[in-house]
Amino acid sequence: MAAKAEPYVSTTNACKLCKPLGACLAFRGIEGAVPFLHGSQGCATYMRRYVISHFREPMDIASSSLGEKHAIYGGGPNLKQGLANVMNKYGAKLIGVASTCLTETIGDDVPLLVQEFRREKAGQDNLGETPVVTVSTPSYSGTHMEGFHAAVKAVVEQVAQGGDPTEAVNLLPGFVSPADLRHLKEILDDFGLKGIVLPDLSDTLDGPAELDYEKIPAGGTPLTDIFAMGRSRATLEFGRTLIGKKTAGQALEGKFVIPLKRLGLPIGLRETDRFFQVLEELAGQPTPPLHERERGRLIDAYVDGHKYIFNKKAVVYGEEDLVVGLTAFLLEIGVRPVLCASGGKSGHFHEAIAEVSDNLLPEPPMVREGLDFYEIAEEVEALAPDLLIGHSKGYHLARRWGVPLIRVGFPIHDRFGGQRILHLGYRGAQSLLDRIVNTVLEKKQQDSPVGYGYL
Ligand code: SF4
Repeated sequence: MAAKAEPYVSTTNACKLCKPLGACLAFRGIEGAVPFLHGSQGCATYMRRYVISHFREPMDIASSSLGEKHAIYGGGPNLKQGLANVMNKYGAKLIGVASTCLTETIGDDVPLLVQEFRREKAGQDNLGETPVVTVSTPSYSGTHMEGFHAAVKAVVEQVAQGGDPTEAVNLLPGFVSPADLRHLKEILDDFGLKGIVLPDLSDTLDGPAELDYEKIPAGGTPLTDIFAMGRSRATLEFGRTLIGKKTAGQALEGKFVIPLKRLGLPIGLRETDRFFQVLEELAGQPTPPLHERERGRLIDAYVDGHKYIFNKKAVVYGEEDLVVGLTAFLLEIGVRPVLCASGGKSGHFHEAIAEVSDNLLPEPPMVREGLDFYEIAEEVEALAPDLLIGHSKGYHLARRWGVPLIRVGFPIHDRFGGQRILHLGYRGAQSLLDRIVNTVLEKKQQDSPVGYGYL
């Protein structure tokens, strides 16, 4: 007898974003690269709008601009014409092509189309030689984070090369803020390590003002570094929920035998300690005094802030690995996560939360994956949290319950400076702690009939 199908439940205000959006963000972090969507114009417009509102930077996303007839006859000719246009008009050093719901549904074979393009353009200027990375990202099969990781994996699989070993260390941080990326690069430098950070959005999505418009913003992981990733001595990859998945780190390990170390996002003291311990081993030296002192100040701040935030209840939501890192951090500072929720469905979310909870709670937090905001609202009604911690899509829930929202991660559409929020390292934990303590104090002050000026 055939198995009974699961009843279909529609999503109401998803707690995740479109898969090729994540891929486009990853491609934006490569020097001279242009993200390219094989799909309709509307997909690219929606993504550009979404990204600009968070980063306050222009973000060009090319598109094969398919219409109704291509849904029947295929989008190959438009894809090839689009690739030639981007190469000629932008002078792209690399094009990252992500598929979309439409082109996956009609069954366009994008890698085959790109091969045909190369054959047809062989010998014509540089058209046949510019690297074109392809990644399959139907949005109905996953989240923007999965699209992001899939694009990074596609880049190392299709671009990295082997050869004589180097002393470089590959760092695959996942989708973190430009401020986080700048801090990670600074940490690697302070340890004296040559790091190859892929992707690197620190300048391409948070660059200085320029007098002239740049078609492709400066910055990003240099292509020469990506070629050399197959020769590095080690790879560090952030993401506890990536266990068991074929990732970029595993691709480098499998193809080039580069040892892979998987770590949680270094949010809070313990996860950052684990990251620094690995850096100490790789660098063969202790943590530099600057970072030791930041760690010491952080512990001091944990002690000072404890009386204000101890036992406050928080609902944490967003990308799985960000929620895992934030949960680790909240437990250290005495805030009780009562619900850890994500729109992602890696299958490892519960396990990762249990790992970082480390017996710090008498009872584990409620952990729910694959949720939308309708379901989060249902859960939260009974939990009566003091804080919401997540991206700006949770604002309406925070407003409904009169609970402060601490904005972290992506997207942040209703505040300024989302790209400069620091989450990682001892310095990131310090910044998060200050924001949380001050938010609790502000709420107390607002709710007080007296309005104490000394808290
Ligand atoms: S969900 Fe699908 S149709 Fe909608 S923007 Fe993303 S790729 Fe395009």
